[in-house]
Amino acid sequence: MIDATTKLLGVIGDPIEHSKSPHLHNYLIKCLNLNFCYLAFKAPPTQLAKLIDGFRAMGIAGFNVTVPHKETILPLLDDLADDVKVLGAVNTVVVENGKFIGYNTDWIGFLNPLIETDLQHQHAVILGAGGAAKGIVYGLLQKRIGKLTLVNRTVGKAEALAEHIQSQSGFDAIDVVALDSELLIPSTREAQLLVNTTSVGMWPKVDETPISASMLHPNQIVYDLVYNPLETRLLKEARQVGAQTIDGLGMFIGQGVASFSKWTHTKVPVELLESVRKYLIEL
Ligand code: NAP
Repeated sequence: MIDATTKLLGVIGDPIEHSKSPHLHNYLIKCLNLNFCYLAFKAPPTQLAKLIDGFRAMGIAGFNVTVPHKETILPLLDDLADDVKVLGAVNTVVVENGKFIGYNTDWIGFLNPLIETDLQHQHAVILGAGGAAKGIVYGLLQKRIGKLTLVNRTVGKAEALAEHIQSQSGFDAIDVVALDSELLIPSTREAQLLVNTTSVGMWPKVDETPISASMLHPNQIVYDLVYNPLETRLLKEARQVGAQTIDGLGMFIGQGVASFSKWTHTKVPVELLESVRKYLIEL
């Protein structure tokens, strides 16, 4: 029940109306009987700084950050977790002793469905070079990936990400390819893991796919960060060629649960995760 001591959590982004984060967190709050409330706040880029000041004034307990603020929020925070200093994107802010600290739980959620998968010395192709791709690359480096191919429509952004990774981690087995380049064909045919971090295929443009089905193969894991729809055209085509597929909902729940635990200091029981997934699918 909301009362005078209820602590506020939330998510900022623009657009934000489609976000499933309030469903996820308010479900966890209810199941675990905690005195928190999670709301969505639309934050146009010109209003971001004012919104953060407002959060400071009202004593918010913590919040998630989504498109387009994952990188632009960094200078507005008081401190950054070590992984954020390397990867350069924030999806979670925790208020600790009045200070706004930036964290990234995207990469933790991303690795959840890959926990049993040995990626050491393997080749991964990453489609997209936005805020999500930064966390995914960081996560893959933790898994000791052998080689990365970064693919983006705007090739300069993928080049900048490759340079950033090299300078921060020393990892240099990276090549960069334009999304529409023929050079993508040998890379995707060779890669053991293909990750779509672009928004291509997301509702309502569900007929779109970032790459041709002819580039997919049965000995591949195809992981799509998009979770609306749950099975994107990319995942459907991957399933049809016999590849292993992973949808974006596991990552979404994983990153959310990691943020939730930071704010509430509560461990979410494993048994709750399956009912959270069912609840989100049925929304
Ligand atoms: P972002 O920073 O805005 O980056 C978007 C990326 O998608 C860029 O690489 C962009 O390429 C590419 N893109 C967009 N439209 C395209 C098109 N029509 N053709 C080709 N490429 C296109 O967004 P983000 O934060 O990285 O998020 C990307 C996606 O990941 C979203 O769908 C988001 O919902 C999803 N996501 C899921 C989770 C999860 O928990 N499952 C977590 C985070 C993000 P350019 O650079 O050329 O514009």
